[in-house]
Amino acid sequence: MKCIKMELGEPDASGRRSPKPIKGSEYMIDVDTVVVAVGTIANPIVPATTKGLETNKWGYIVAKDESGLTSREGIYAGGDIVTGAATVILAMGAGRKSANAIHEYLSRK
Ligand SMILES: Cc1cc2nc3c(=O)[nH]c(=O)nc-3n(C[C@H](O)[C@H](O)[C@H](O)COP(=O)(O)OP(=O)(O)OC[C@H]3O[C@@H](n4cnc5c(N)ncnc54)[C@H](O)[C@@H]3O)c2cc1C
Repeated sequence: MKCIKMELGEPDASGRRSPKPIKGSEYMIDVDTVVVAVGTIANPIVPATTKGLETNKWGYIVAKDESGLTSREGIYAGGDIVTGAATVILAMGAGRKSANAIHEYLSRK
């Protein structure tokens, strides 16, 4: 497994410091199997296959408001794919709000 050491970079406009690779710090670990057991990044499949669906710089879907309405009419999003890694209760709340908005949208059609 090829690894690279990281360090915190300078704060960005929001004041947050992001990890940056340390050039030349790569090293190898001899392993039989690697199980990826962490991962809280956005799945790129939906935005990549859905034209006109706006995402932010981290690949999360942009919702215009609390209803979860996206840049595409009739497409709603909520939960981690909008907020980034968060909690079950926030995802459930977003789902509930989107369900109401979707119901309203379909009732108008
Ligand atoms: C290790 C870990 C521990 C956590 N512990 C807690 C905790 O203790 N308490 C807490 O509140 N939260 C916890 N969380 C966070 C919580 O799990 C998430 O905030 C919550 O599950 C988000 O729900 P969601 O519906 O937005 O997304 P998810 O639960 O990730 O659901 C998204 C679903 O979409 C599916 N999917 C993805 N792409 C596609 C596709 N192209 N087509 C069809 N389906 C697709 C996925 O398979 C998945 O089933 C934890 C998260 C992790 C990773």
